[in-house]
Amino acid sequence: MLKGLSTSFVENNLQSSFWYYTRVKYPLEHIQPMFVDAHIHLSDPALKDLLPQIILEAKITRTLLIAVAEDTSTSALNLKIAAEAGEVVKPFLGVHPWSLQNEGFESEVMSLEPERFAGVGEVGLDRKYARDDVEYRRQREVFEYMLRLAERLQKPLSIHSRGSVDDVLSTLTTYHLRGVLLHWFSGAPNQLKVACDRGYYISYGPAVIYSKKTKQLASSTPPDLILTETDGPVKFGGVFQNRIALPAFIPSIIFTLSSLHKLGFEEMRSIIFENALNYLGSKYNK
Ligand SMILES: [Zn+2]
Repeated sequence: MLKGLSTSFVENNLQSSFWYYTRVKYPLEHIQPMFVDAHIHLSDPALKDLLPQIILEAKITRTLLIAVAEDTSTSALNLKIAAEAGEVVKPFLGVHPWSLQNEGFESEVMSLEPERFAGVGEVGLDRKYARDDVEYRRQREVFEYMLRLAERLQKPLSIHSRGSVDDVLSTLTTYHLRGVLLHWFSGAPNQLKVACDRGYYISYGPAVIYSKKTKQLASSTPPDLILTETDGPVKFGGVFQNRIALPAFIPSIIFTLSSLHKLGFEEMRSIIFENALNYLGSKYNK
């Protein structure tokens, strides 16, 4: 009790506070989400200080966060974040192509008990991160190991394909996968067509708001294969003036996608959210 303040004054202020409404009157732990950020690196050290705010904002804006990872330690951290945040966070287990893996990484992955995760990602190929053919071959071995894992567990995948779209597309055909997402797709229109013909999801982020090339790709993607993402803590240019992408950007991304597809905002939003549920392979449990 604060000195000099009456009980009723404190109670009145408490009851009109945001805290009271979000924790006591309408607990945000059991929200029904409407939006999805299908690819965000919540366990990235650059988001550490912002994390409580991001989770709270996601609950307020009713945004489901699909938390991808770069290695086994960020994957483990995703589990911890999801355990604390509740249903609003879906933790993924990932090994990003930029982190060259040593022999024995498979046992590190298995020690995390992959079945505890909602999906596998970020995984993929990227020639830019390989200094030579030996390193690129190693990337491919790691990618294929993670694909086998996703196939065995029938978990959705979040895939990085920059500069290696053809290699990624040809590799994927050898597995029986469910829920494939090519995140931040930056390939050619004909590669996009191959991906869409196979029913792969394509996610669009803040760049679709200001990049002509991304707008063209998004216009050619059937609405029932579109997901939204931020790839936070990536910083975006254009109208975002080099700011870290946050889930609060998602409605603006949907607005742009809805005008590209000549759909209403609410129609586009509900298609995308339904896509997210299909991608994750589970209806959202209240
Ligand atoms: Zn990413």
